[in-house]
Amino acid sequence: MNRRQFLTKTATTAAGVALPCQAIGLQPRQEIIDLHQHTNYSGRNDQRLLGHQKALGVSWTVLLPAGRLYGLAANCGGNKSVRKIVVKNPRHYIHFANEIADHPECVETIEAYLKKGALGIGEQKFRVECDSKHISRIAELAEEYDVPILMHFEHGNYNTGINRFHKILEKHSKVNFIGHAQTWWGNIDKNHVQTVMYPKGKVTPSGISDRLLLDYPNMFGDLSAGSGQNALIRDEEHAVEFIKRHQDKLIFGSDCNDIIGRGPSCIGARTIEIIRRLIPNRKIQDKLFSGNARRIIRIPK
Ligand SMILES: [Zn+2]
Ligand SMILES: [Zn+2]
Repeated sequence: MNRRQFLTKTATTAAGVALPCQAIGLQPRQEIIDLHQHTNYSGRNDQRLLGHQKALGVSWTVLLPAGRLYGLAANCGGNKSVRKIVVKNPRHYIHFANEIADHPECVETIEAYLKKGALGIGEQKFRVECDSKHISRIAELAEEYDVPILMHFEHGNYNTGINRFHKILEKHSKVNFIGHAQTWWGNIDKNHVQTVMYPKGKVTPSGISDRLLLDYPNMFGDLSAGSGQNALIRDEEHAVEFIKRHQDKLIFGSDCNDIIGRGPSCIGARTIEIIRRLIPNRKIQDKLFSGNARRIIRIPK
């Protein structure tokens, strides 16, 4: 028996014993996909990144590269660095492709990495308006390759003008967009003040992001980072209803730069706990942890 046959046989046996486990009421292990991670994040090396993802308990990690400059404002690595990890760890990592939105070589750089196997575009975190021709050009490429685009919305800084993003969703209705960061999550609240980055307190539904998720089948939400977590804990009563309402649109991600991968210092570990506490329904949890990501990203089985 060679190694592959042995592994197949082991897997079959493992699947075979899953039944008695269910019979005594135990749930099979929950698959978790981390939609949002970076190489060299705040200087963290590859070995520590891999250790972090293992401790976090995720089976697949989506690595989001920076453009050729700026390191996504957190020293993050670019296309080459994410590609390197995926080539070495093809059963646990996939990557997106990225470039500065208004750079003259943006489209050709992203396309080169889509051809190499990138399964999405982003993290788009550059100083352009969210409905600019630069984003439109990237969306045309995304449609051609049938991949989603992950957008960092930050008032006054990145992908500005979120109140006009519906134009892009309409113009590029076959492209899936994933919203992320402070201005995306602040705008779940109808009364959001655009200059506030981490708003607290009660949420009034029907904010811009809430509407975009409701009205456009190609709009999704990335629960990662302090901004995603803040949206879940600032008004938990609202969060439960929000998750139920958008259960087919929300995707778990960590975006954390710690080296531990568990406990209070790990934002990803805390967000996993919060989701499980707010939404005990396993079917909805599974959508957030893996199902929705698999629906819009071609992550291997
Ligand atoms: Zn990020
Ligand atoms: Zn962490």
